[in-house]
Amino acid sequence: GAGPLAGPLPEGSGAGALTEAETKRLVAAYGLPVTREVLVATEAEAVAAAEAIGFPVVLKGVSRAVVHKSDLGLVRLGLGDAASVREAFAALQAAPVTLEGVLVQEMARGAAELILGARHEPGLGPLVLVGTGGVLVEVLRDVQLAPAPLRPEDAMAMLRRLGLWPVLEGVRGRPPLDAAAAAEALVRLSWLAADLGPRLVELDLNPLLLRADGQGCIAVDARATLQ
Ligand code: ADP
Ligand code: MG
Repeated sequence: GAGPLAGPLPEGSGAGALTEAETKRLVAAYGLPVTREVLVATEAEAVAAAEAIGFPVVLKGVSRAVVHKSDLGLVRLGLGDAASVREAFAALQAAPVTLEGVLVQEMARGAAELILGARHEPGLGPLVLVGTGGVLVEVLRDVQLAPAPLRPEDAMAMLRRLGLWPVLEGVRGRPPLDAAAAAEALVRLSWLAADLGPRLVELDLNPLLLRADGQGCIAVDARATLQ
């Protein structure tokens, strides 16, 4: 289908709000790694998509009006076979919101969850942020902000200033994580922010799963608002 920038913005609730899949297509165009996924409408399509992607998979109910999907039971993780996919698809139909579809995606693994963000700040211009991600992001407040675009060394310096940095370096016998991959993702996101300028209200990748050194990172959730 057409990319999020190919036509007019989506109509209806949450004007300018992109879905997870639309936001991932946008960031993937800048070379950020995202989950393999397929948007489906029926149970049979969900099973076929899961078989094509490979088990285990994740099912997510898609609604551009929803900010925190897991709070509404819209995220079903670790589905290991066709029967679990059918069960999860049926459960999503019972959600308290009208769904635009169901997203079937690969179940990814990582050793740490980061948040990567971008926004246009009136008077300041494009900004990017990186921090400790996951559902506790507002509580932990471990984030670093900088103007976009970034050079690789700027991105690495932001990572080094995080409370999470010792985890990226490898603590207590845990292997070091792929900080270079996280820095590259942040640089690429900063190019997106600089290119879109004031059209980008905000964009979040939360979480970006970070793997062991040399094994990269992957965005498993994404949302954005354009204007
Ligand atoms: P929310 O809208 O609630 O933030 P997410 O898509 O981020 O929904 O899913 C909630 C949590 O589930 C994530 O923080 C992550 O830990 C986990 N998760 C989501 N998608 C995947 C995936 N494809 N692979 C592995 N874990 C995932
Ligand atoms: Mg999320």
